[in-house]
Amino acid sequence: MHASFPVDVDLALVGGGGAASLVLAALDRHGVTGLRVAVVDPVHKRGQDRTWAFWGLPGDDLDPLLSASWSQVDVVTPAGRRVLTLDPLRYGMLRSAPVYDRAAAAERRLDAVRISAPAGELRDDGERVVVRDPDGRDLVRAGWVLDSRPRRPKRPGRTRWLQHFRGWWLAADRPTFDPQRAVLMDFRTPQPERGVSFGYVLPVDDRFALVEYTEFGPELLDDAGYDAALCAYADLLGLDLAALRVREVEDGVIPMTDGPFESRPSPRVVRLGTAGGATRPSTGFTFSAMLRQADQVARALAEGRPPVPAPAYPGRHLWMDAVALRALDRGHVGGVEFFERLFDRNPPERVLRFLDGVTSPAEDLAVMRSSPLLPMTGAVLGDAAGRLRARLRR
Ligand SMILES: Cc1cc2nc3c(=O)[nH]c(=O)nc-3n(C[C@H](O)[C@H](O)[C@H](O)COP(=O)(O)OP(=O)(O)OC[C@H]3O[C@@H](n4cnc5c(N)ncnc54)[C@H](O)[C@@H]3O)c2cc1C
Repeated sequence: MHASFPVDVDLALVGGGGAASLVLAALDRHGVTGLRVAVVDPVHKRGQDRTWAFWGLPGDDLDPLLSASWSQVDVVTPAGRRVLTLDPLRYGMLRSAPVYDRAAAAERRLDAVRISAPAGELRDDGERVVVRDPDGRDLVRAGWVLDSRPRRPKRPGRTRWLQHFRGWWLAADRPTFDPQRAVLMDFRTPQPERGVSFGYVLPVDDRFALVEYTEFGPELLDDAGYDAALCAYADLLGLDLAALRVREVEDGVIPMTDGPFESRPSPRVVRLGTAGGATRPSTGFTFSAMLRQADQVARALAEGRPPVPAPAYPGRHLWMDAVALRALDRGHVGGVEFFERLFDRNPPERVLRFLDGVTSPAEDLAVMRSSPLLPMTGAVLGDAAGRLRARLRR
């Protein structure tokens, strides 16, 4: 613990995971100096605990940190294989260790105070925020707090799905993977009764790749269930697991819900990361929004403005996702059909930019037109009725 509490700072990062690490790196990138920063997290994130896959324009300062990147990716369904050319975007794979290392270097340069304790309540009087520990002791007094501690949405969503997955980092003694071919989604996996499943492959080189099994749906599998699904997917890929070593296992659960995540719970508290709504409800992708918001926060601070980013996604996208989740959950449309049509009827760049929340309303209309009309109309009406019922209850 720090010698004299509470510590006075300009900015406190409460939660020091993905979102906070990107903010620290962005503060460095924008040359922010003289800002008193504290990071409050019982865990000091280091090493490999997750792999971020995301798309974006090449040429930013993440490029040197990427383990691999691809200008083409495959989307596979039982009907066939589509090769998506992503130009001008690229699909990148970023292991967490270099992200945490970069954040640690930024912390050192900013001379940030690290408080290795859990934060509890945040008391915001509109001028300053007091960060307390769970026993009510004051830890930090801050001008602004960026809070990325995991939390549930403000209200339960009408659809509450999870993206849950297990990945194996597989190592081979001889060339086994094609480093040029990354698989974004492979829907040939057996589909669950409720939900969507797919596998994917991200090769770092011809002897090392991340092979993952993912489900979107309401229920988690048990340990044996993930292993069985991954074995079956490896089999489908023609991989001989007896000849491969599982070097690392990566598990994860990410919310997919239309429940609202509050991004500004009080005047001087901003929520970031999954807690702030950076997770795209229809896909679970989070990284690009976190990166964008980290840049906006750092730019604002460099220019002496409040560190308040734009919302992670436009409201109309959250509505579209609520409708899509409802349609999938209530069985109005099959998951494979939904994604197949999305990639079939739109240029890949439009789909990826849509999923990042940066498409124009005209492009959104084109995306909407690619989904099956009748089932989606049913979901739109169901969503509207659900909203009305929720409002009346409140
Ligand atoms: C295994 C895995 C793989 C993923 N892969 C992708 C991907 O490929 N692409 C993508 O877009 N998204 C991905 N995601 C989703 C998302 O990008 C990550 O979850 C990301 O780390 C979210 O960042 P965050 O800051 O919101 O949360 P986290 O990174 O989880 O950070 C939250 C932090 O809060 C801290 N904390 C908790 N309680 C307290 C407390 N009381 N006080 C202070 N601190 C506290 C935790 O210790 C943690 O450090 C993945 C998620 C997981 C779990």
